[in-house]
Order: sequence, then structure tokens, then C-alpha cells
Amino acid sequence: APGLDALGEDVRRKVAEHPCYSEGAHHHFARMHAAVAPACNIQCNYCNRKFDCSNESRPGVVSEVLTPDQAVLKTLAVAAAIPQMSVLGIAGPGDPLANPERTFAVFRELAVKAPDLKLCVSTNGLALPEHVEELARLKVDHVTITINCLDPDIGAKIYPWIFWNHRRVRGREAAEILIAQQQKGLEMLVERGILVKVNSVMIPGINDQHLAEVSRHVRAKGAFLHNVMPLIAAPEHGTYFGLTGQRSPSPQELQALQDECAGDMNMMRHCRQCRADAVGLLGEDRSSEFSLAKIAGME
Ligand code: SF4
Ligand code: SF4
Repeated sequence: APGLDALGEDVRRKVAEHPCYSEGAHHHFARMHAAVAPACNIQCNYCNRKFDCSNESRPGVVSEVLTPDQAVLKTLAVAAAIPQMSVLGIAGPGDPLANPERTFAVFRELAVKAPDLKLCVSTNGLALPEHVEELARLKVDHVTITINCLDPDIGAKIYPWIFWNHRRVRGREAAEILIAQQQKGLEMLVERGILVKVNSVMIPGINDQHLAEVSRHVRAKGAFLHNVMPLIAAPEHGTYFGLTGQRSPSPQELQALQDECAGDMNMMRHCRQCRADAVGLLGEDRSSEFSLAKIAGME
């Protein structure tokens, strides 16, 4: 895997100050997620819409959706209170790029009001290509794409449908479109020097044998970091494919896959699958200190 020393100064700085991109940074730099994006444009079989987007978050977590104005207010309050706060990310509770007006309203305001904050977004990738220009213009330095497969036959088992050109597309065709959009988005981001992290959800029996190939492929295309996350299958989060039998990978299976990928790729192993409204250092959650009521009181 490429070492940090091989990177240019600009990339090194982007990496060093983002707690998710650099394991060393995660004790020193904090991030905040602003939960402004309720809608989603696809359906993942592992998602329960009552909870935060499982592409980034541990299932079973419900974040309160903020308006863009509320999110800006909260971000400025958090940045004032937590000096290590270096990154503002938008990661849900749905797909940030399926809510482009809301997501970009926050980025636009913060680019003016908090120009030192690094901006970060995570997405399933379906709407990514049409937004890459705007992300680059607003100096969004970090983008996470959740890529669970390259093979549409596997994709058809993960995604029952996507919403595309004003209609619902199902099955293999849906997976084909989503995969093509993800790959195109990845290429466009890399061309513009935006750092890309790829998240993959490891689903035993579905894509577990396929993810090492995904890892090699996205690395060859210039993704910076790969984060393989375990499917967290629990009855209260709903079923998978409408079946109750889908299991999570064991910690050993997850680690074996991460080790296999690590030969070729920078792997993230400190992901905490944070809430869409997480605040603070990774592994601590201070979001309750910054409820809207409290922020209104700080003004
Ligand atoms: Fe759910 Fe996220 Fe998948 Fe949308 S992209 S269906 S919010 S897990
Ligand atoms: Fe970072 Fe993982 Fe948390 Fe996202 S979910 S902010 S990648 S630690």
C-alpha cells in the first residue's frame, strides 16, 4: 500500500487533518456530521429507512434531521467549542446527494463562514457525477462512495431498486446503472484531486468473495482508502432481502478480508460507523451537548 511519504504536500495535509483518513489524526482532530439529508434515491437491502443510512452508520441509530440553517448554526457552535474540530461531513440520514439543495446550502454557507473547515460527504454514488463540479468548486476535499460490488448480478442481490430519471428501475438493470455511476463519479473525483474513500459493506454469502476484487479495482482507479465495514444484521433493524436468515460476518472473517485487501490498498480499520449527527473525536459522541435548544441558548 502507498505510504504517506510518497504523497504530495497537499494530499498529505488533507490526510493528516481528517480523523477518518489518518489513524494518527483521530486522537487529535474531531469531526462533526450534519444530518440534513433525509431522502434517498436507492434502496439497499440492508437499510431500514427508519434509521440512519447504513452506508456510513451503525444501524439502529436515528438522527434528528436539521434544516441547512440549523446545521450551519450547530457547526459554528461546535467549531467554537471544540478547537480540534477539523471536518464537517454530511452523511445522512439518507443520501446527501439525493438532497442536493440541502447539502450544498450547508457547504456554501460554511465555505464563507468557516473557511478553514474541511468539507466531507458520503454517498451511494448514484447522483455523484452530476455534482462533482460543484463539490470541486466548493473545495470539498473528501468524498466517500459506498461501493459494494462491480458485478451487476451481485448488485441485484443488494439493491432491489434505484430511482433514476424519474422512474423506479429494478433488478440487474438498476445495479448496472448504479455501478456505472459510482465508477464514473470515482474517476471524476480522482481527476480533480479530491480524496476518495470507498466504503464496502461485507455481506456474507453475497459479496464477501468479491470485495477483494473491488478493493484492487478502486485502488487502480485512484481511490485513496478502503473501509470494509461489517453488515450488522439484527432483527430490530429489519430483515435482509425480506429474509431473516442473513447473518453478519464474524470479526475473524472481517479481519481476514481486510488483511487480504491490505496488500494492495490503504485500509481503514478504525471506522466507528458513526451516527449521521455525530460530534467530536471518533469514538466519543458529544452530539447531545449541541442539541438545537442548547445552541439557541448559546447565541
Ligand atoms: Fe439506506 Fe443509505 Fe442505502 Fe439509501 S444509500 S437505501 S439511506 S443504506
Ligand atoms: Fe469516519 Fe467511519 Fe465515522 Fe464516517 S463513520 S466519520 S468514516 S469513523
